[in-house]
Amino acid sequence: MKIAIVGVGKIARDQHIPAIQNSLDWEFAATVSRHGSFEGIPSYTDLATLLSERPDIACVSLCMPPVPRYDYAMVALNAGRHVMLEKPPGASVAECIALETKARDAKLALYATWHSREAACVDLAREWLADKRLRRLSIAWCEDVRKWHPGQTWIWEAGGLGVFDPGINALSILTKILPVPVRVVAAELSFPENCETPIAATLNFGHPDGAEVTGTFDFRQLGDETWSIAAETDGGNLILSEGGARLMVNGVERSPRVPDVNQAMSGEYPRLYANMAKLTNERRVDMDLSPLILVADAFLIGRRKIVEPFDK
Ligand code: NAP
Repeated sequence: MKIAIVGVGKIARDQHIPAIQNSLDWEFAATVSRHGSFEGIPSYTDLATLLSERPDIACVSLCMPPVPRYDYAMVALNAGRHVMLEKPPGASVAECIALETKARDAKLALYATWHSREAACVDLAREWLADKRLRRLSIAWCEDVRKWHPGQTWIWEAGGLGVFDPGINALSILTKILPVPVRVVAAELSFPENCETPIAATLNFGHPDGAEVTGTFDFRQLGDETWSIAAETDGGNLILSEGGARLMVNGVERSPRVPDVNQAMSGEYPRLYANMAKLTNERRVDMDLSPLILVADAFLIGRRKIVEPFDK
């Protein structure tokens, strides 16, 4: 099946394009980007032209930041194309619901991808937690924003999510590995004086059995990143680290292989594209909004703290 990448930037180059090129399901047929292109691949600068000139391309994968994504997705769905969405699937909950309704009505595939859910040890963690009683769980998702998001000014603008741009990855894992849903009951969001999005946040979650569930997210960490989730249960403890690529249970390594720190996200995008191929063949929708709802609720009920300006 032919697919076009829309928004040729960091994640498209790092992950999407290699995953498509190595896939037996997909043919990398075109790019749509106002400034970017990929050598040897037909390029377009606007989506409308691609949609009218290339009826052979059944699917588009949207890799731009979240704020413009809805308009692109709706135009593609209206043109009868299947759509794959980078995370977060949109800038608001309502626009994601509108896309879902449109895709279901039109019997088109729509996939809200959560790449961290495809990390090597996430399913193992979910299986281990399934029959345990959770007592405590803490998320620590801290990284150096200058290392991971160089020059990405959109992350500091309204709708860019700030620290929740990576933080929503932790929430996508949380909502996959826990057998019951949690909700945000309290939050503190730290906004630099000169930014529209938070640089750090702490969240407290309500859990149906009263387990203590918390999250710390911080863009100001220097050096190595911390992307981990630690859980204490009646059957022992679990540490899911390195963004879901590594799992320790009661101090024993459970990872299929010890991850290479230079291969962050390895395997995640090939799995996303395999999932998208299945959804496209079956004309189905996979649109789990639970991570986005947790972030939206943090913005709704969180206390706001103004902190020192950030030198972007
Ligand atoms: P990016 O490099 O800053 O942006 C990707 C491309 O989107 C840009 O090169 C730009 O291409 C296009 N774009 C930017 N603003 C736009 C606008 N207003 N309208 C239309 N197109 C626009 O960002 P990224 O890091 O690839 O992230 C994109 C998405 O992927 C985000 O939602 C992010 O959360 C997700 N993601 C990123 C990473 C990562 O490591 N960076 C990892 C996983 C997921 P043109 O100017 O050529 O149109």
